[in-house]
Amino acid sequence: MNKETKLNGITIVPGKGIGKSYFAGRVVEQTALVSITRQDVGDEIIRFNELRESTKEEYHKYRSNIDPSDSSVDSSFLNIYEHILDDPAFIGQVIETITTKLLDLETSIRLVSNDFIKRFNSTGSAYFKDRSSDMVEICEKLISQLHKDNGRVKSFLEPVVLIVSRMFTPSDILAYDKSKIQAVVSASGGKTSHAAILARSYGIPVVSGIRNIQDFICPGDQVLVDADKGIVYVRPSAAVVNRFVKQKGTSKELDRLKAKWNRPVYTRDGIHVEVLANISLPEDVEVAMENGADGVGLVRTEYLLSNKKNFPSEELQQGYYESILEKLGGKHCVIRTMDFGGDKKPEFLDIPPEFNPFMGWRAIRIFLERKDLFKAQVAAILKAGKKHNYSIMFPMVTTLKEYLEAKTFLVQAAEEVGCKMPKVGVLFEVPLAVLEMNTFMKEIDFASIGTNDLIQYLSAADRSNAKVNYLYNPIEPAFLKIIRNAINTSKDNGKPLSICGEMAGDPVLTVLLVGLGLRRFSVIPRHIPIVKELISHISYAEAAESVSHIESIESSEDISKWLKILNKRMLEPVFERLSIPIE
Ligand code: PEP
Ligand code: MG
Repeated sequence: MNKETKLNGITIVPGKGIGKSYFAGRVVEQTALVSITRQDVGDEIIRFNELRESTKEEYHKYRSNIDPSDSSVDSSFLNIYEHILDDPAFIGQVIETITTKLLDLETSIRLVSNDFIKRFNSTGSAYFKDRSSDMVEICEKLISQLHKDNGRVKSFLEPVVLIVSRMFTPSDILAYDKSKIQAVVSASGGKTSHAAILARSYGIPVVSGIRNIQDFICPGDQVLVDADKGIVYVRPSAAVVNRFVKQKGTSKELDRLKAKWNRPVYTRDGIHVEVLANISLPEDVEVAMENGADGVGLVRTEYLLSNKKNFPSEELQQGYYESILEKLGGKHCVIRTMDFGGDKKPEFLDIPPEFNPFMGWRAIRIFLERKDLFKAQVAAILKAGKKHNYSIMFPMVTTLKEYLEAKTFLVQAAEEVGCKMPKVGVLFEVPLAVLEMNTFMKEIDFASIGTNDLIQYLSAADRSNAKVNYLYNPIEPAFLKIIRNAINTSKDNGKPLSICGEMAGDPVLTVLLVGLGLRRFSVIPRHIPIVKELISHISYAEAAESVSHIESIESSEDISKWLKILNKRMLEPVFERLSIPIE
């Protein structure tokens, strides 16, 4: 397989990237190397021994589940596996690879297994062919066991394109050194899945919807991902690579904008519009500030749980919030209580299997039942926020009763820890709550619309499922009506409202949202300068006038055509300068 192969998928996060392919788990052939330091060697060897033991136990369990009187089941192969796991040649080679090549356990297991497999295959004997498939099994088994452990962040020696031959999940990014991931190609995963949001905030392009990736890409192959067009070039030709190198130039203009927008933005007719950042980790605050964030509109605190075997202690959490708030230097910060469950299932919570996890035990629903966990988080936030400018927001609220229960709990916690109450708001992302927004208004201090979830619930189209992505559309007329009503409801009640779903950061929708009356955007840091630049070229009155008749447009296709004309008329030079497509 040396020729260039072009694969077509779906754009999940636009952008371009080039690197060696690295398979995120579950493929034996793997040549991209993950390095460790000399200090890690001892730990890796201990992990290997523990891993062999736990894997043997797994095989043992299989064996004890087989009925000995059932002669139709031959379980002798399980003995072979256990033997291989105790084979001094195999153990010795893995340990030697870790020690002398300074490679992590997973890479060492893959390299040694591949070596065995190649040697067995080259003999041509049927007996050894069978042994080679045993090695494949052992390698896969060890690695799948390994992924259950508290894996540390892995670093790469060279830039990689992460290949995910299944559904793309947040840990595919969190488990690795993000700075080396140039792009992700996955079999499945939607534009507003949490994994996509994470990739977008780190500027990692993603193409999804490429099935049976392993049939086209070998580990270590060079891969160029043109996520703007949803195309993946495997072993790209020199001409394709050259084109990619030339196009990298436009980032200079973005750097200029970053420097320019370290200040508030006003529309052409003088209306102040806030552009806040969506962040997850303390280190994201620096990126948000560099990009000119007016504050933070959403902290996704559940990322504190990544790679954690236990719920983080109150002290650990307090340090995390303090570090975010201090780095913000007085700018306002909206801290969302943890939104776990759904596609973010922590290991420590025994969430029973759910047919529809996104509609299941998630976020505030978990906290209202697990008050011990809720208490640890709110106490940590209250203590960390003592000297800071922040508010608290509850996600996935469905009914006013739920909100009031959560707020009462917060008031009690504030009394107990002796801290003053912050402002409290709701992330409106469940249709029922959005329809009842007016009733909520007298009880809340502010509102935010979580369009990522709201769209999936309104359209019954799973946000992580690339297959139904065509239904997941922020410019459906009925959806825009809901947004307009929500903005008006908040204005009528004098309560601020932001949009913090991904649609707020889409440059094509900026003029539409300004026209609908939105005065507070919360977007990923990298999009802040772009959204601010666009806002500065928009007249609020003109946008409102242009959008006023939107209700008469009956289909999303027609809205898309109309929006293209509007963007061309009002903002074409800005889109051109930033090389952003107008649709
Ligand atoms: C949303 O649903 O729009 C939102 C901001 O929350 P999340 O994407 O974290 O579910
Ligand atoms: Mg949400």
